[in-house]
Amino acid sequence: MTLTVQDLRVTFPLDGKMGLRAVDGVSFDLAPGTSLGIVGETGAGKTTIARALLGLHPPECVQGSIRLDGRELVGLSEEAWRAIRWRRIALVPQSVGTALNPVYRVGDQIAEPMRHHLGLSLAEAWGRSLELARRVGLEPRHLRAYPHQLSGGEKQRALLAMALSCAPDVLILDEPTSGQDMLSRARLLDLLDALRREGGMGLLVISHDLAAVARLTEQVAVLYAGQLVEVGPTAEVFQDPRHPYTWGLLHAYPDMATARDLRGIRGTPPDPANPPPGCRFHPRCTQAIDRCRREEPPLREVGGRWIACHLGGLQTLLRAEGLRKTFSVNGGGPEEQVEAVREATLEIREGEVVALVGETGSGKTTLGQMLVGLLPPDGGRVLLEGRDLTAAKGKERRAMMSRIQLIPQDPFDAVSPRLTVAEIVREPLDIQAIGTPEEREAKVRQALRTVGLPTSPGFLARRAHELSGGQLQRVVLARALVLEPKLLVADEPVSMLDPSEQARVINLLKEIQTERGLALLLISHDLALVRKIADRILVMHRGQIVEEGPGSRVVTRPEHEHTRMLLEVAPRLG
Ligand code: SF4
Repeated sequence: MTLTVQDLRVTFPLDGKMGLRAVDGVSFDLAPGTSLGIVGETGAGKTTIARALLGLHPPECVQGSIRLDGRELVGLSEEAWRAIRWRRIALVPQSVGTALNPVYRVGDQIAEPMRHHLGLSLAEAWGRSLELARRVGLEPRHLRAYPHQLSGGEKQRALLAMALSCAPDVLILDEPTSGQDMLSRARLLDLLDALRREGGMGLLVISHDLAAVARLTEQVAVLYAGQLVEVGPTAEVFQDPRHPYTWGLLHAYPDMATARDLRGIRGTPPDPANPPPGCRFHPRCTQAIDRCRREEPPLREVGGRWIACHLGGLQTLLRAEGLRKTFSVNGGGPEEQVEAVREATLEIREGEVVALVGETGSGKTTLGQMLVGLLPPDGGRVLLEGRDLTAAKGKERRAMMSRIQLIPQDPFDAVSPRLTVAEIVREPLDIQAIGTPEEREAKVRQALRTVGLPTSPGFLARRAHELSGGQLQRVVLARALVLEPKLLVADEPVSMLDPSEQARVINLLKEIQTERGLALLLISHDLALVRKIADRILVMHRGQIVEEGPGSRVVTRPEHEHTRMLLEVAPRLG
């Protein structure tokens, strides 16, 4: 038995017409003994797919094809669907609280599908119910009980026993872990995993619980606004998400292995009655281009993965290859060569937060300055959006440099004390000759509002030395944002501030990064700080990048001796 879904579309009436496309062009196969997870935010259309597979929508709402062993199910009569449900395709629904009938004993409800669909007598069906109860971890007393006498976890098992009662070819689990406490969830997952390993059935797991999907499925399909955006082997997709939405979904998931704060996907899912044109994810995507606003990207194979993205998935924003920098120093004696940066290679992806950590003098600031184009490297190159920044000249170079902005370590050093707030923030616009004077003023005010500063004439006329450290750091951040960059390189942006102001500025930086979809390279000596926000951590020591990995891995299982040392000396309260 293979379930083959092709170009499934489910459209509901809206204002008297068929207008709400909840599922749009979904295709997948489910063979016996295999498992598929469908993941996505609430409202993506996951449950609508499950209900379509059971013929639970009005027939006029469902188009496309659902075939079971080659037999078309779309368009079947209600009577024909009744022969499919339970026997061929069974569902464990999400709402366990209401799925059982409160006036019948649980055992009668498990026995009912076997009596109805398999023609068993009451005694035979009860006998099989006892077997099923044992299989799902229920006791005989649970069968004699009424639903209100069972806990949520026990009800879930009873529904699972019902779904298994007619030995279906396909078992659909709709949010199997929702509403379960952690212990019940763990036991349920053990049980479901054991059932999966018994083989035979095709298992479809629909859930926003990514860890449950990781445990129970071999393949995963990521659903966004009714459309599949990424499909591939579950372990590979979760380890290395390629679609920007999958990446965001995984970063929003609370994972015990990471110390990073949760990061939501910016914006909200679209209204299914009025989805945006082109790629439905484009209003939330950090790398959207014009084409994304016009054309819908098809799901196509890219390097062994199916991805719906005009750009083939998540892009590398900046790539540095083999950067080198040597300084000549003369401390009163003969000239000496100091290799500040040696063969540094790194990548920053669209919308990613990368931390570059190391002690003072490790070469991080020099590397940061080469990345933003302020310091020419002795060797190697920097590619920004695929173009060579190191080789670019004149206008092209200025335009490229405006895409990367540096937030310097000491804001008092970075700006002239004679300039007013308005002049500090406006200066990059003046240099790049962007907009009319009125447009520049509007951009200055907007940037100041973004960083939470006033825009009153009095504040705009203040000079740098009249501001507190925290205020000036925000002004410098507004100056960096006014050119609408794609990447912010923040060099120890809070090291001059007290801990409370540090937390405020870091939270602000993070908020702006998420809202604007910027990539952020945070240069810091403070592992305790960067572990809260970094997706990836690079560790620098004596001019070299000695370790690189996901933030959660680097801080919990450091591989390089120097990283271990940095972790040991990181500040701890108690
Ligand atoms: Fe969609 Fe374009 Fe973003 Fe790809 S780059 S996910 S097509 S908006």
